[in-house]
Amino acid sequence: MVTHQTIDEPDTVLTPEDLAALRENLHEQLLFRQEQLRQFASTTRADDRRRQADAAQLEVGVKLAASARMVLADVEAALARMESGNYGTCHLCRRPVERHRLLIVPQARYCGRCQQVREAGR
Ligand SMILES: [Zn+2]
Repeated sequence: MVTHQTIDEPDTVLTPEDLAALRENLHEQLLFRQEQLRQFASTTRADDRRRQADAAQLEVGVKLAASARMVLADVEAALARMESGNYGTCHLCRRPVERHRLLIVPQARYCGRCQQVREAGR
């Protein structure tokens, strides 16, 4: 299959179709993470009752829940930015976040360059 890319179109322009797809993606992630956290909460309670919680397994669960909560917060923030019309703007340099980047990570807060700088600074 041959994909025709329009070369003269900048990589930062989000079409209404892009936005609709991204919004849907974010909503799916939102529901998925909420469900994940719900399941985790009920598993933890059941383990408490039985007093059989495997410490290692519980620790993995705690980490999973923590990362799920972080992603959930990012997703919620991205949806809020969509509502307010600030979606797709880098939080650091205020330049548009690359379109291909948003299509992979719809909740991305930073452009590719700023993300690299942040990761290098850790
Ligand atoms: Zn940036």
